[in-house]
Amino acid sequence: MKRWLTYVLIWSTLWIPGSVRAQAPVKVNPDDERFRAEILIVVAHPDDEAFFTPYAVKALNDMHKSVSVIFATRGGSGGNRYTSERGPAMANEREIEAREACTKLGIRNVWFLDGKDSASQNVLDSLSNWGHGANLEKLVGLIRLTRPEIILTHHPGIFIGEDHGDHQATAVLVFEAFDLAGNPAVFPAQLSGDMTHYEAYLSNLRPWQAKKIYVGSDADNQKQFDGTGPTYSPHEISPSLKKPYSRLAIESAMSHKTQFPEEIERMSKMTPEQLDKVLSDPNTGWWGDPSTLIFGKSVVGGSATDPVFSHINEAPVNPATQVTATCDPGNRLPLPRVELGGPWQFYANFYPAHGLCRLKIAPTPEIGITAGATLVVPLVISHDPAKAAQLTLTAKLPEGWRAEPGDLKFALPAEDSTALSIHVLTPKLTAEELKKTAPQELHVSAELDGKPAGEVTLRVLLRGNGLPQSL
Ligand SMILES: [Zn+2]
Repeated sequence: MKRWLTYVLIWSTLWIPGSVRAQAPVKVNPDDERFRAEILIVVAHPDDEAFFTPYAVKALNDMHKSVSVIFATRGGSGGNRYTSERGPAMANEREIEAREACTKLGIRNVWFLDGKDSASQNVLDSLSNWGHGANLEKLVGLIRLTRPEIILTHHPGIFIGEDHGDHQATAVLVFEAFDLAGNPAVFPAQLSGDMTHYEAYLSNLRPWQAKKIYVGSDADNQKQFDGTGPTYSPHEISPSLKKPYSRLAIESAMSHKTQFPEEIERMSKMTPEQLDKVLSDPNTGWWGDPSTLIFGKSVVGGSATDPVFSHINEAPVNPATQVTATCDPGNRLPLPRVELGGPWQFYANFYPAHGLCRLKIAPTPEIGITAGATLVVPLVISHDPAKAAQLTLTAKLPEGWRAEPGDLKFALPAEDSTALSIHVLTPKLTAEELKKTAPQELHVSAELDGKPAGEVTLRVLLRGNGLPQSL
């Protein structure tokens, strides 16, 4: 055969009309599954992951769920009980301790927000120190990246207990981010689509609606949370690892040497049996048995105590619709009225705004402060905005407590609500008295231009020490 004829035959067999030629489709990259976290733990400080570490070990190893952790701060305040570094240098160390603790548990993906440690019980202090908006945007971005079903965080509320403002602020960010991350109109630069222009600033993430939030509280009274969520046993033996979850959790916590070096030293010398005995003793253990994951919020069906992953495959209800449908703040007291201000006023607005009708909160507002410290009682008086008014407060205080200013009379400007505060000097107590002390109630009633304007009650425990109230 002639050579030219051979070429013609070869090319004619390879030629297919353009209309039927199979073209390879352009590959579109999927979301990165390495960063998916079915459970996202969001806590304030390095070592706070321990609120949930026994559950995290169970979820990772025996429920086969992916888990990631976000810390809101890098832990730059408070003392260093191990070495000399303080402040930013200690925060650099604590970031590494936190990463090491998570790695021991098998948690690889660990992120930090830009919160600054704020040693106070006032959630508003922490939110202002952190830059509330910027950290909320960062957290929404991480939720869209990790696409969690379940988020575990702190309780957004004020309790007698450690009650750290940073813990509360972390919870506030989480509940806000939970409601915002699925909304395509929020932080749209994170949802840019596949663009190359200004690519350093555009994320090509997708909106993501997590399904449920559970919280942990450091309130002194843990009994009040019984029945408020699903429970698990921290001391159960892991079927796959053959050790109690609590022992694995405490071994991970031993990375936090700048925080509790003496306990780590003591525990690291114990045999596994001795360690299990200490951990399962209600007086010395870190986790109650059973431990409750306190129900925070859900956008799927089921009750507060249902298993964590129940109803998880249901389509989520839009959180904004859910808020108006299930958590109407209802009728407020008529004008004029007095209410607690400051962080208490914030939470009175926050709970209905985020549909938190089923979250367990303190039945009477409460706080613990150091005995001898000045208790600040912030108040908000709602009244007729058309005229100035005379306010008289009457404080009914426990014996030995004293209010300032003494006569509690105020001239209010013509405005719809006026914020003010009264200061209450509390007595110093001896060590013996502190052992016996119990929460006591104070009542402040208000009269506006001679008409009753209601009363507020605050339950206060005087303690030996604690974080400042910072109001
Ligand atoms: Zn903490």
